[in-house]
Amino acid sequence: MVIETPNAFEQHATANGTAEQDLQAQMVDVLNQMEQGILVWSPDGICTLHNERIFQVLELGPQDLRVGMGREAFLTHSVNQGVISAERKDEVQRLFQSGQPFHFDRNMASGKVISSFARPLKDGGYVVTFTDITQFRQDAADLAAAKQVAEAAEQRAKDMLAKEQSWRAEVRALADLDEWLQCCKSLDELFVVVEKFMSKALPLTQGELYIYSNSRDVLDGACCWGGAHLHEHIAPDSCWALRRGRGYRYDASGFTFECGHVADHPLVRTVDDALCIPIVAHGDTVGLLHVTYPPQTDKDTAKAGYELALQCGEHISLAIANVKLRDELHDQSTRDPLTRLYNRRYFLEAMRAEQSMASRKNTPFSLLSFDADKFKAFNDNHGHDAGDMVLRAISDKMQEVFHTGAICCRFGGEEFSVLLPGASSAVATDAAEALRAAIEDTTVQYSGGKLPGVTISIGVASFPDHGALPQDLLNAADRALYAAKAAGRNCVRLAGQETGSDPTP
Ligand code: GH3
Ligand code: MG
Ligand code: MG
Repeated sequence: MVIETPNAFEQHATANGTAEQDLQAQMVDVLNQMEQGILVWSPDGICTLHNERIFQVLELGPQDLRVGMGREAFLTHSVNQGVISAERKDEVQRLFQSGQPFHFDRNMASGKVISSFARPLKDGGYVVTFTDITQFRQDAADLAAAKQVAEAAEQRAKDMLAKEQSWRAEVRALADLDEWLQCCKSLDELFVVVEKFMSKALPLTQGELYIYSNSRDVLDGACCWGGAHLHEHIAPDSCWALRRGRGYRYDASGFTFECGHVADHPLVRTVDDALCIPIVAHGDTVGLLHVTYPPQTDKDTAKAGYELALQCGEHISLAIANVKLRDELHDQSTRDPLTRLYNRRYFLEAMRAEQSMASRKNTPFSLLSFDADKFKAFNDNHGHDAGDMVLRAISDKMQEVFHTGAICCRFGGEEFSVLLPGASSAVATDAAEALRAAIEDTTVQYSGGKLPGVTISIGVASFPDHGALPQDLLNAADRALYAAKAAGRNCVRLAGQETGSDPTP
């Protein structure tokens, strides 16, 4: 609002005229053109000067402010306008007595915010500037809101990135696990990989892996990590996951029950959160992975860890299935199905390997070749099934007599061979005699009765005394076997010392 009444400046300027008048007129013009309202109080609180802009800034009418007006009246008007409170007015009046600069804001009825700066003058009065900071405040609020939105978006992006990175790390880790698992040639190798991987992938956890025994009535402890204690065996019934046929999470704070294999562990400490994962290979449950987090673990950490553990469980299941399949195939290609002894193919390979090592190291090895005596007649008298029982009994006895290192083989029909690495002909002859005697003493139960005893004749040949090549040794052992048959059967002959006539048919 423009004031027509000249204020103190204008009055002063008109009174003096000339250059000073021009300067003052110019100052008045400058003050009136400023964006801020300006008001000067005398030391005793009387308005001595104000510009025109103040009416606009403070939304005042011409009668609300004039030169000569008291500050108390001016501020009371502001209180009546609802712009400042009565307490604020009193406080402001006290501040005007302080001789110090001060600042306060006015919230206008129109919604505008006016910032007031009061600065002391040399004569003890005050000059007050009133600045409309509504837009500034709005801009600042908008800026703060925009900053908040940007920060939230940045946080979301960071969270997503962190998730993505942890997902990628998990995928990489699982790919690594797969690669190692696929290289495993045996379950024992696989257990070492699982133990190492789990302690790296889930470093806070303890855990164990159990695999069903061949009899399937218990699970055998296979490996553990994180300082867990491995049960030698656990009963399938002691695990809720195995009973329910799916992963089972035990949470002490929820409606869940602790698995027996956890509860009855003599060494285990308190567990309030655990996960059991059945290991399923080709539709068959072959084992159990058990993972626990220490008490008071953050729930989100445990949740994420268990999800990874579930995935590990799947990868381990697949790897176990592969190793088992490979074992089965290997077994099928190297073992005789009736006796579970090695077959002829495996035996010949083993002999070749042994011969090459013995040549390099200049050590002996021996070969026993034996054949059941008069077995055709035995079959004819007692039937083929009874004959099979005897062949199995012979194989059991072989494994009983020969310990680790010896390779026992069913060469075909009722003919068997044993490779004795490192054995001289003397040692091998003694071993052959022990086997012969053990089989002679063997009785086989069949159809509720005892079968007549079966004897064997054994030929012994040794490297390098009786041949340099595997085939030479096999031939030498066969010749010795024929000599044993010729000598009346149920006896041992060493190659090169054959005596006796042709075997009786
Ligand atoms: P010898 O004392 O001279 O060795 O007499 P033999 O009757 O044992 O000799 P031969 O080699 O003529 O007979 C081998 C017999 O072994 C023929 C066959 O009936 C029997 N036989 C071979 N393979 C099997 C098998 O897998 N199961 C059974 N039950 N008998 C077998
Ligand atoms: Mg034969
Ligand atoms: Mg025979």
